[in-house]
Amino acid sequence: MKVLVVSGGVISGLGKGITTASLARLLKARGISVTVLKIDPYLNVDAGTMNPYQHGEVFVLDDGTEVDLDLGNYERFLGQSLTGSHNITTGKVYRAVIDKERRGDYLGTTVQIIPHITGEIKRQIREVAQTTGADVVLVEVGGTVGDIESMPFLEALRELSYELGEGQMAFVHTTLVPVVGPVGEPKTKPTQHSVRELRAIGIRPNIIVARAPVPLTSEIKGKISLFCDVPPEAVISVPDQPVIYEVPLVLEAQGVGQLLSRQLKLPDRPPDYGRWKEFLSTYRENKGSVDIAFVGKYTELKDAYLSHIEAFHHVQGNLGYSVQLHWYDSEDLPRDSAALARLRRADAILVAPGFGARGVDGKNRAIETARTLGIPFLGVCYGFQLATVEFARDVLGLTQANTTEVDPHTPDPVVCLLEEQKGVADMGGTMRLGAQRVELVAGSRIAEIYGRTEIWERHRHRYEINPAYLDRMAQQGLVVTGRSVDGRVESFEVPSHPFFLGVQYHPELLSRPETPHPLYMALVRAALARKEVAASVAPAAARA
Ligand code: GLN
Repeated sequence: MKVLVVSGGVISGLGKGITTASLARLLKARGISVTVLKIDPYLNVDAGTMNPYQHGEVFVLDDGTEVDLDLGNYERFLGQSLTGSHNITTGKVYRAVIDKERRGDYLGTTVQIIPHITGEIKRQIREVAQTTGADVVLVEVGGTVGDIESMPFLEALRELSYELGEGQMAFVHTTLVPVVGPVGEPKTKPTQHSVRELRAIGIRPNIIVARAPVPLTSEIKGKISLFCDVPPEAVISVPDQPVIYEVPLVLEAQGVGQLLSRQLKLPDRPPDYGRWKEFLSTYRENKGSVDIAFVGKYTELKDAYLSHIEAFHHVQGNLGYSVQLHWYDSEDLPRDSAALARLRRADAILVAPGFGARGVDGKNRAIETARTLGIPFLGVCYGFQLATVEFARDVLGLTQANTTEVDPHTPDPVVCLLEEQKGVADMGGTMRLGAQRVELVAGSRIAEIYGRTEIWERHRHRYEINPAYLDRMAQQGLVVTGRSVDGRVESFEVPSHPFFLGVQYHPELLSRPETPHPLYMALVRAALARKEVAASVAPAAARA
């Protein structure tokens, strides 16, 4: 069992998750099997009940666990699917210890943070190492060194390093090197302080990843080396990148592969990045661009839609067209005539997942715009449910139609609570979650896009399309094209429209750079087609 720990200093939001994912990719490129786990030092048992404005999007794994968005980065960088045991939270650890105490497992001893909480943390890490059999387990410690919350975790990792012995564990510390003053001088003092903090806990970093807006000179690296007691070649400069998928190569270029091989006593094979490099060169090709309107209610914080943003990056890296996302706050949209006018000129519209009544009118306006103007449209989860509401109102004439999530007393509940949800009181981990099999209708557009009729996609919802309205919708041109094994509606399309698709599941969660999601690829292709038509019509119109 070998473990690579990534901690963070100075401030959060430094890109520690991307650093961890990139280190994992770098090892994987050397033929070393890796897995990654994230420690989140909060008391929530999982991320499922958290507002996206606090921690960004809630990522969902195949097994239905709702986790921190960094796990999405790990899956995307590694092209590997993870399970819930790869996200350890304070809540999960305490719950396990308290359950054991209630069962009497501690045989009358006083249960304490050390050794019981730290012991449970180590047990959970070892379990991941054992069940995956990975050569190296990367552990990202959420939060910043010095936080009270992360203390037990760092203590557990220090103990683990002692237990595993020499050459089995390495520590990478990610810090901020701010550039300040009129001449833009990079400052190393915050890094010095945070490394001192780490050493006070008994952890000596082997590598320092210094995040700064600009590349660091060898002089600055030397200064960090001297004050922080790491060799100069182990101070790695990672300036901001135009696209996160560059980071493994930035680390590679500074010899991180050799450093880790030495520290962890791993064979130092030449790396093979396979399709990764091709992805990056296609990404930069810039054959042209498309404008995609993204409609959601958390648009102020882009991390709330991280997997969607990444899915569009994946398309760019596979098609060579730059995908420009334009954000529309669904709450403001109905009142903002300039935004509505802009929306009508979009090459495609995506209506995002979401919950609750706020911002629903704007989502309905966006759906109506796409449907009536023939703009390519993809509705994801709530976006899919609301598209049936919009269709029921405008096409079937059921003006009061709604989802019972917004109006529990609607006379036409076209979207309503899943049967098994009716008695659910607990909000944590009780939605319909995770990977489920979906059967697509042969000959439908969606089946053509996937190139098959059986797919597995990840879910996260409580409500579903009410089958009572399906016949009427089909007569008017909105047809169901996918169902779950137990008959739930999973997708629809409007065949008479250039591209109008909705899915109950979350395709964004399975898109990866080397295997972009077919639905995002298809949406961008449809957007490109629309743009081409518009371009060929516009000059003619100008002549006339
Ligand atoms: N609020 C809807 C439901 O619970 C949609 C959820 C979502 O978009 N993830 O069914």
